[in-house]
Amino acid sequence: MTHMHVAGSVHADVAAAGPQWLTLPDDVNALDPALWSGSAGRGHDGIVDVAGVSVTDLLAEYGSPLYVLDEADFRQRARTFRDAFAGWDVYYAGKAFLTRTVASWIDEEGLCLDTCTGGELITALQGGMDPARIGLHGNNKSIDELKLALSVGVGRIIVDSLDEITRIEKLCRETGWHARVMVRVTAGVEAHTHEYIATAHEDQKFGFSITNGAAMVAMVRCHTSDVIDLQGIHSHIGSQIFDTAGFEVAARRTMKLLEQFRQATGTALPELDLGGGFGIAYTNQDSPATVESLAASLREIVTLEARGRGLEVPHISLEPGRAIVGPTTMALYTVGTVKPVDLDTGAQRIYVSVDGGMSDNIRPALYAAEYSAVIANRASTVTPVLCRIVGKHCEAGDILVRDVYLPGDVSPGDVIAVPGAGAYSRSMASNYNHVPRPAVVRVGIGDHPDTSVLLRRESIDDLLSLDPGPVTSEVQWP
Ligand SMILES: *Cc1c(COP(=O)(O)O)cnc(C)c1O
Repeated sequence: MTHMHVAGSVHADVAAAGPQWLTLPDDVNALDPALWSGSAGRGHDGIVDVAGVSVTDLLAEYGSPLYVLDEADFRQRARTFRDAFAGWDVYYAGKAFLTRTVASWIDEEGLCLDTCTGGELITALQGGMDPARIGLHGNNKSIDELKLALSVGVGRIIVDSLDEITRIEKLCRETGWHARVMVRVTAGVEAHTHEYIATAHEDQKFGFSITNGAAMVAMVRCHTSDVIDLQGIHSHIGSQIFDTAGFEVAARRTMKLLEQFRQATGTALPELDLGGGFGIAYTNQDSPATVESLAASLREIVTLEARGRGLEVPHISLEPGRAIVGPTTMALYTVGTVKPVDLDTGAQRIYVSVDGGMSDNIRPALYAAEYSAVIANRASTVTPVLCRIVGKHCEAGDILVRDVYLPGDVSPGDVIAVPGAGAYSRSMASNYNHVPRPAVVRVGIGDHPDTSVLLRRESIDDLLSLDPGPVTSEVQWP
């Protein structure tokens, strides 16, 4: 093994290259409980473990890179939402991460499930979810997707355009089916988060505008249809949101719309969905509200709004994805190379290259998302240095963790663990550079080793099987 020895005088310069929020950790080996799943820890041997299984054993059995999902932690977070919002419906947003097994957990824990494509819908159905507890989203649902949803009788289709309403009516007339729908509205709220994941300001593809009257038109259209049962309205204001201010504005505007609809039609719609977007801690700069305090403020906001408008409090639903699955999962990588790079400022940055990258986590490249990381196969007493963890792809933007302190002896062969990798990592993964996607492994409940595959690792042969040829050489992948 080669070791990086960074001279003492370099430390201050290297630190100067980091962002202001990133402070030198007191203990570079510690796992901040706000970031990691409930049963993750570091054993006496210095190796990180989860539910009693060490990361080195997991990598030996399942290969690297690997996502490791803590089932007990997943179920606990699902129950926390269910209980905090008792009397309301919690729809797990399957787009964050969904397999048949995950759908079965959601079913067992008594939550509902949101899907936004036919692929997600069929996964939820095959996982055993009751169709009545499934929602179907999407701004451009295909005929096949709508047919599947209507034929199994999903609880709600969240409609997003007049074209879609026409398509649903036509399908229903042809088949005798009936559609339960909610109208997706844009509440004109810009959530305090990165631009590309804020979805309720006006200039984006989702929803009907409340401001220009389009929402009311769509609602009346559904209400007056003989084959559509309009249940209510839906608003999703963004993702990775830390406070309730945005939800408060959205609740006020949607409740006002419900009041106007009642004035116009005499009908009080029974349902309001306030969407998802509850933030989680990816680094120690993030401090999300607890689910309990979130629930208390949302209840208060909605109750006050209803009272002020002389409306019954509607039946509320929410759609957390990231906040349930995000912290349950760590991504494990193996270090391949360690390279000091001189910066213009004269400082140095240590580039740590791992065996995955933007194909298994696109969020840093797509949203400038921040992550943290630790060396997971050993504890180290060597002074931390500022590092950048990068992937193996042919792209300079292939960054996994932009800035993190790792022990100065970080070396090829070390295992890097990244917490908070459960949401939008595997689900957004690609095969860029013909890189097969990693496996997702579940670690069980309790201290006895209990692991199983939620999604198997792709092989090069899986990728080649999509390519019809011609094959003019007998060479095989080793
Ligand atoms: C993405 C999305 C969610 C889930 O967002 P999270 O940030 O994972 O909580 C919920 N509802 C809708 C409509 C979405 O598009």
